[in-house]
Amino acid sequence: MTKPRPLVAGNWKMNGARASWKEAESLAGLLAADPEVRADVMLCPPTTLIAEFAQGLKGSELLVGGQDCHGESSGAHTGDISAGMLADAGATAVIVGHSERRADHGETSEDVRIKAAAAHKSELLAIICVGETETERKQGEALNVVGTQLSGSLPEKAQAGNTVIAYEPVWAIGTGLTPTLDDVGEMHRHIRSELKGKLGEAEAAGIRILYGGSVKPVNAAELMAVTDVNGALVGGASLKAEDFWGIVSVYAEK
Ligand code: PEP
Repeated sequence: MTKPRPLVAGNWKMNGARASWKEAESLAGLLAADPEVRADVMLCPPTTLIAEFAQGLKGSELLVGGQDCHGESSGAHTGDISAGMLADAGATAVIVGHSERRADHGETSEDVRIKAAAAHKSELLAIICVGETETERKQGEALNVVGTQLSGSLPEKAQAGNTVIAYEPVWAIGTGLTPTLDDVGEMHRHIRSELKGKLGEAEAAGIRILYGGSVKPVNAAELMAVTDVNGALVGGASLKAEDFWGIVSVYAEK
């Protein structure tokens, strides 16, 4: 079975202003100069920058995504952004269920499932995040916790063309810590097998499962080489084009 085309997505979180366009421009330039990169590459900047980035990146290989969306398409939800608005601004994907959203905004897997379904309705790729806390891993609960998050967060119409799963151990995000390669492999195998149970063998094989949590240019090659790792969701190291390129170029033909 052919492996899915990897995705390397940069999550800028609440970082970046209009002057950060130079990083996007520089990354697009690096991508254009290296047609041998065998991966989709995406930046998810703050919502204020999506329209400008999407406009500036027209015709380039660099994709633009959002970091969150509301579950409804419009209405009285001050401060929120719908999936349709993201699509209208030029995004082609949206991250849902990031652990910072689950922790800071109390989002449940049911909320995440509704958001992912809203993303699909607006023809956005839903990047659904799952991951255990440090305590859950220490208690030997990581596989169970992630399995439960996954089944609660996966919407009915999930398929390889509209859904990506990002495994992000909470304790590895922004800490410089990463799980062992064996632990990453075990979790990605587990996620693939859960997906098979829900979506069938063929669809599950095509779904990209990203690893996220302190991916840097120095550890990207070994993490991306783990079986069933189909790319990365990158926070801190995606803010500068040069650092992010150090990760993306793992997928360049040598
Ligand atoms: C993230 O927030 O999705 C993330 C993976 O962050 P970092 O790469 O900084 O650990």
